[in-house]
Amino acid sequence: MRQVEDESPKTPSLVGEIVRYVAVLGLAVFIVWYVYFKTPIRTIACEADGTTMGTHYAVKVHGFPEHGDWEVVENAIRQSLDAVDQAMSTFKPDSDVCRFNASESTDWFSVSKETAEVVHQALEISTLTEGAFDITVGPLVDLWGFGPNRERIGLAAIESRLAELKDRIGFDKLEARLEPPALKKSVPNLSIDLSAVAKGYAVDKIAEVLRDHRIDNYMIEVGGEVRCKGNKGERGEWTIGIEKPMIGQPDEFPGVQRKLQLGDRSLATSGDARIFWEIDGVRISHVIDPRTGYPTEIVPPGEKIPTERLGSASVINSTCARADALATAMFVFGEKDGLALAEKQGIAVLFLLRSEPMDGEQPTIREAPSQAFP
Ligand code: FAD
Repeated sequence: MRQVEDESPKTPSLVGEIVRYVAVLGLAVFIVWYVYFKTPIRTIACEADGTTMGTHYAVKVHGFPEHGDWEVVENAIRQSLDAVDQAMSTFKPDSDVCRFNASESTDWFSVSKETAEVVHQALEISTLTEGAFDITVGPLVDLWGFGPNRERIGLAAIESRLAELKDRIGFDKLEARLEPPALKKSVPNLSIDLSAVAKGYAVDKIAEVLRDHRIDNYMIEVGGEVRCKGNKGERGEWTIGIEKPMIGQPDEFPGVQRKLQLGDRSLATSGDARIFWEIDGVRISHVIDPRTGYPTEIVPPGEKIPTERLGSASVINSTCARADALATAMFVFGEKDGLALAEKQGIAVLFLLRSEPMDGEQPTIREAPSQAFP
């Protein structure tokens, strides 16, 4: 009997097929895992800088993937800065802030989500600081010659107009709503000035951009307000310097008083050394005490100039918007009242006091930190 071979095509067994499929899939998963998690990714340091809001900004990043597209991140940073500038500038007539200031309506006034957020945060700081920080201070800022027009009049003319502005100032005359975003004033001629908080907020927005691009090691600075995260690789944490509050030309570097490592936090400084002017021999600072209507540290004509004056207040906080606003509030309070509030609320603040030397002497700096300041 002849054996006949079966010539019909062989059907592979189902079990064999499954085993092959699982093996191929396993190999693919292993390759992807190896490439993403085991192959060291070559990284580089990247930087972005430029001008914004009448000042300078800089962003430094460590550990950016060599094959990543830094230009995309740079553009996103630029867009977030432009959005803050466009919405919150008192120098742009079509900004949210200028439109709200020009409106005399006491109904809810629609603004961008960002503007509502900043005003909301600003109102919280006003409550915390009992009105030392107050974004309704704008008319006083203009009167003392620091508004967009830089219009400057004599001391007597300023003082004669102070009383009539009183009814237009006060954070209790302002409300902010986040959903839908809007602001509301209770007096028709109330106006807002976000100069002491918006730069810090812009820093926080850039931190969000970097987070969205999974960047964990950075230093962001906008007009002197700083936020850090992570480190510079083997060179350790980012080191930030607090300037000596010396009176001089705006482009003169006065030297560093203190170097700090912030960890994952923000640092903001408010002071009188860079933005000031003199009328009738009196030095006028751009930080105004909304409760009195006068610039902080003003010494009226004829009164004796103290031997020491507040030069700056620097605050460390988790967000830069809060640090920015609190630094201004602390500058308004001054050393004694500022430290009292700081100890009560656990605020990290460093006051720098500058001696007012006689002719020819070099000023000296005294430090007055709160307990929470590193
Ligand atoms: P900070 O202490 O942070 O703030 C002081 C400022 O806050 C004062 O100048 C005053 O406006 C306001 N202020 C004063 N007292 C108080 C108080 N008690 N409470 C709350 N606020 C107070 N400048 C230009 O020259 N050109 C521009 O195009 C320009 N555009 C800008 C756009 C935006 C969105 C912002 C926020 C600012 C812009 N500036 C511009 C202003 C410029 O950058 C300011 O010099 C800066 O905001 C002041 O910041 P500072 O850190 O020196 O002082």
